[in-house]
Amino acid sequence: MNTVGCEEFRAFVDPYMDGEFDERERAMFDAHQASCPDCQHFLEQKSWLLDAVKPLLKQPCQMSPDARNRLNKRLRVAQRPEKAKAVVRWIAHPIPALALVAVALVLIVPLTGFNTSVVVDDLVDQHRQKVPVEVPTAINSEVETWLAGKLPFSAATPRFRDQRVSLLGARLSRIRMKEAQRSLPAAQLIYRVGAHKMSVLVFDGHGTIDLQENIQMVGDRPVQMHDRHGHRVALFNVGDLTYAVTSDLPAQEIVEVIGTSL
Ligand SMILES: [Zn+2]
Repeated sequence: MNTVGCEEFRAFVDPYMDGEFDERERAMFDAHQASCPDCQHFLEQKSWLLDAVKPLLKQPCQMSPDARNRLNKRLRVAQRPEKAKAVVRWIAHPIPALALVAVALVLIVPLTGFNTSVVVDDLVDQHRQKVPVEVPTAINSEVETWLAGKLPFSAATPRFRDQRVSLLGARLSRIRMKEAQRSLPAAQLIYRVGAHKMSVLVFDGHGTIDLQENIQMVGDRPVQMHDRHGHRVALFNVGDLTYAVTSDLPAQEIVEVIGTSL
């Protein structure tokens, strides 16, 4: 029985999802998915991204002959029982020990107008929802034009110099302040970072959400990090606005990505 490992699964997940596999290939990939929670999560994330990006794509991409050759080669390698396969961890980036310490110093937040726990839960919930973007575009100025007049504040969309980050679009949202209390209007921007989804919620929380304590400095900007339900939430202020970055990326990667926008 042929099997695929995580590495093959992820390398060829696109043609798998596009239904370009023959019966045998599909069965092998189905079997791996069924037995590997990590790859299930990878697939969920990936399919969410594809849904979000679909309006941007003019036509589905075919599996190139070159890609098929690589797949066949890998599958042949995978068949050899005596060959120890190097299973490349999907996220193999070592996180520097110092960075871990910095992130571990995080954080209980003083309560002010916001119940930060409610806010962070809401942010993670919204991040996980597969709600389509209302304005699917990779162009920041188009999002800003679309948002103008729909919100009681004017939101600049963050530009990330990190090449892995691309804007997928935006939608209108709201952020809950406290349990059973009113919510504030917000813009939700969706980005893709490599194969990960990253949400940025922008709202006018200045003076209400207290980011003075329990922070990590990114450049000269205080950023408050939370770890919740397998996701990281980073909160910071820019002018009058509060930005909340949510992703399942490792904390250090989020910090690095934010660092390229400030
Ligand atoms: Zn796997």
